[in-house]
Amino acid sequence: MNICSGLGDVNIHLLSAGMAYQDYVDKWRNKNCSLLSKKKRCDFCMKSRKAILQQTARLKNCSTINRIRNISNPVLRRKLSAIQMKVRRERYQKLQAKDRVKHLMTCMKTQEAQIANMQDMTLEKKCAELNVPETQKLALKEIIATASKKNVKGRRYTEEWIMLCMLMNIRSVGYYEFLRKNNILPLPCTRMIRNYFSLINAMCGFDEQFAKLFEKHLASKTPLQRHGVLLLDEINLRKSVAVSTKNLTCVGLTDFGDDGQQSTDNRAGNTRSCANVPAAC
Ligand SMILES: [Zn+2]
Repeated sequence: MNICSGLGDVNIHLLSAGMAYQDYVDKWRNKNCSLLSKKKRCDFCMKSRKAILQQTARLKNCSTINRIRNISNPVLRRKLSAIQMKVRRERYQKLQAKDRVKHLMTCMKTQEAQIANMQDMTLEKKCAELNVPETQKLALKEIIATASKKNVKGRRYTEEWIMLCMLMNIRSVGYYEFLRKNNILPLPCTRMIRNYFSLINAMCGFDEQFAKLFEKHLASKTPLQRHGVLLLDEINLRKSVAVSTKNLTCVGLTDFGDDGQQSTDNRAGNTRSCANVPAAC
């Protein structure tokens, strides 16, 4: 018979509370240790030792500790429970903060919409009180709309404003650039204006779409208002030839149609304008 050699050299921190005890020579033994055994260790000490060695091997393979088992040391146990409480409290506070951020974001969006509405209403009211002309009102609205956007790129302009910008660009490109570069008015860049110009059909002849638009315009009038006088006039134009980037041909305003040989000088000098003056307003 041998005296049981106990658990041996193992990590005692992995021992469960009440599972083992220390004898008078500071040897750790299983609580059910028989002290005498035929082998080097009794069966209980052998099983405990095997379990602890397996745990140690697992801990070595695992880089992070996900779970902490029962600790026999009361001081460490108190520390662990304090850490657990702290983690739980922080997790709860984090969740609360997330909820609060969500709630505040919703409130902020509602308030933003309300403020934008109020600004529009106040502006409309003020303009009506002071009898501000429509064009100036349009410019004021554009200024406010542009100022409320943080990003300079990707601005959206109203159709009326784009039309006004195109007219300003036609009158003077230099002065348009002066207004734009000095931030006097929120004007779109010249390239955008040119893109809009390129969409206009500048070919000679009668514009077929005009008849449709004119029909639409007259449909909203009373039968009396539909009567009017057609005025025809001839005006001089600035001569202009541009190269079309689509088919690399010269584009002017002269078009002789199918009659005769095409002129080499493709520039127009004059055109005819047509105006409808309604008899009744
Ligand atoms: Zn034993």
